[in-house]
Amino acid sequence: MALVNEHFLKLSDNYLFADIAKKVNAFKVSHPQVRVISLGIGDVTQPLCPAVIEAMHKAVDEMATKASFHGYGPECGYDFLREAIVKNDFAPRGVKIDPTEVFVNDGAKSDTGNIGEIVRWDNSIGVTDPIYPVYIDSNVMCGRAGVLENGRWSNVNYLPCTAENNFVPQIPDHRVDMIYLCYPNNPTGTVLPKEELKKWVRYALDNDTIIFYDAAYEAYIRDADIPHSIYEIKGARKCAIEFHSYSKTAGFTGVRCGYTVIPKELTAVTLDGTRRVELNHLWDRRQSTKFNGTSYISQRAAAAIYTPEGKRQIRATIDYYMDNALLMHKALTDMGFEVFGGRNAPYLWVKTPDGIGSWKFFEQMLYAVGVVCTPGVGFGPSGEGYIRLTAFGNREDCEEAMSRIREWMAKK
Ligand code: PLP
Repeated sequence: MALVNEHFLKLSDNYLFADIAKKVNAFKVSHPQVRVISLGIGDVTQPLCPAVIEAMHKAVDEMATKASFHGYGPECGYDFLREAIVKNDFAPRGVKIDPTEVFVNDGAKSDTGNIGEIVRWDNSIGVTDPIYPVYIDSNVMCGRAGVLENGRWSNVNYLPCTAENNFVPQIPDHRVDMIYLCYPNNPTGTVLPKEELKKWVRYALDNDTIIFYDAAYEAYIRDADIPHSIYEIKGARKCAIEFHSYSKTAGFTGVRCGYTVIPKELTAVTLDGTRRVELNHLWDRRQSTKFNGTSYISQRAAAAIYTPEGKRQIRATIDYYMDNALLMHKALTDMGFEVFGGRNAPYLWVKTPDGIGSWKFFEQMLYAVGVVCTPGVGFGPSGEGYIRLTAFGNREDCEEAMSRIREWMAKK
């Protein structure tokens, strides 16, 4: 008799965005005359840039002849992309990464969700709270998160990030085996200054902790002193795995490509304490067993963003979204909202007025003005009393949403 993995039964029925979609659909059915504006799910709206399109066309044409056709590629990525990543994303920041430390993937969700397979199921974990839900849910699936008690998982160390601590998580006063950090942060849109990140690397080295550092939004950083990579901090090669994504950097949410960096110095110990094992090697072994590589076409598309014209074109789109963020930040602040993030990230984290719960404010805003946000509590207990807005919309939609909210607030 096959038994089910009962850890899956501990998960809530739906992923957060499926819950939101259900509520939005119910609203649309009962209010067919309203044009709903979604500033909720973090999907991009602007098309791929011309350099990427051209590279994809060329790659498709290569597939059309026997001489240039590509079948299975290397599981961990083509050298042309791994080398371009090292040369463009790390070398200019003085960070030394070897191409064999870069694992090309089909986006950061897969690897942030799967990475836990190469460490023991009973390691303790820590997460900044609120967080991108994949980190916790993937740990629930293997039993590492424990059981849910009053909205919190019993084996998870929650590190609250709220207005009260200026969204800077406090370093735990005890050992935690694995810590997830995401900067610039989804959902709060806040960043971690270099001095703070140094404390985390120090903590990890002192406690033999692995930091899973999600840098999916690093392309949105504008302030010069904010680190783009944890490897800008001395010692991080010994304690951190870093995740990157082309989804928000270059509009690849539908193309699918990203990469993970696992330095060769990073090791974890066996239970009996007698051996340290290279995680780069384990991940390579894992990927070559369970993953057959990202498509050649997607990897050629990704490589095109590192050409001079590609760089210029993706920068223009990022600037477009950041102008949305600025516009919304100003409008909401003028209306009297307390607004965080949006300076070095495409997300705005907004305190709900009068301490209204996140879901209640989500519903009020949807029914009053047809604007969809994401309830902060969906990202963790410390998200209660906040909502998240994304800057990935069309400019006109952002403007229209702000004007609808302004009118609504004026009437309140
Ligand atoms: N990490 C964070 C923090 C995200 O917000 C997202 C997507 O929204 C991802 C990873 C996943 O990105 P990808 O599209 O590369 O799978």
